[in-house]
Amino acid sequence: MDRIVKGVLNFRQNVYPQHKDLFGTLATGQNPDVLFVTCSDSRIDPNLLTGSDPGDLFICRNAGNIIPPHSNETGGMTASIEYAVAVLGVSHIIICGHTDCGAIKGALDPDNLKGLPHVKEWLGHCRSAMEIVRERHTIPFDQGVPHELLNEAIEENVLQQVQHIRTHPAVAAKIATGKVQIHGWIYNIKTGGIRCCQQNDTLFSNFDDQYADIIEQL
Ligand SMILES: [Zn+2]
Repeated sequence: MDRIVKGVLNFRQNVYPQHKDLFGTLATGQNPDVLFVTCSDSRIDPNLLTGSDPGDLFICRNAGNIIPPHSNETGGMTASIEYAVAVLGVSHIIICGHTDCGAIKGALDPDNLKGLPHVKEWLGHCRSAMEIVRERHTIPFDQGVPHELLNEAIEENVLQQVQHIRTHPAVAAKIATGKVQIHGWIYNIKTGGIRCCQQNDTLFSNFDDQYADIIEQL
């Protein structure tokens, strides 16, 4: 805790004064352009890896960067997505998975989650992705998915969550009218690289290829 307290003091004395104007503007409202959904994993810093500032990203985090498909039951993710899209009017939704994801490791082998009933239930939202990997590699239903397939499972999970978010009515409406675009990302913790896909893709590509049009104009 010492480091955290020291950090707060440093923020108050040094960081805040440097950004006083920005915080002054943000004090009365936010206007983020991006809803950023990612894993709770401590190794991911959305602002750091996108070079963005406070006020730029509306961030939702949970174990496994999961978006439960829409239902009439209300959950934290459902409410946050609805608010970001319908009220804040974000134009882009980035769903960012990452390498070495503990949640996906758990989803690959749910028998190891016996003492964690809530984790097990939550990771049920990844099941289709795990089943795709299992089917592709003809792994019998009574066997766990080998960890060599972790990266493939992480990618499939992001592809699946991209589909899930489209079932949320506010998102479906904005996609249908071209007002929101969905991006799937995989952040590589070791290399700092990002692989990505767009809402209709089934494969991931290099970041620089995916965003070549934007990069050209920089
Ligand atoms: Zn994770």
